[in-house]
Amino acid sequence: MIDDELKAILACPACKGDLLFEETRIICPACRKAYPIRDGIPVMLIAEAADWSPSPPGPAGGPGAG
Ligand SMILES: [Zn+2]
Repeated sequence: MIDDELKAILACPACKGDLLFEETRIICPACRKAYPIRDGIPVMLIAEAADWSPSPPGPAGGPGAG
């Protein structure tokens, strides 16, 4: 678990944007990158980030496609 204070000061190293905190990784939705958390320490390095994709918005064929 990451401290709230730490969450407050962390930002994506690429875009300085807001992050999504999970138990084992930190996600930047803007960059679609997932930064690992090792031994409880966030590894905020672009070189260490893994590709990440947002969950599908719902059933296919909805409005707004295209
Ligand atoms: Zn970012």
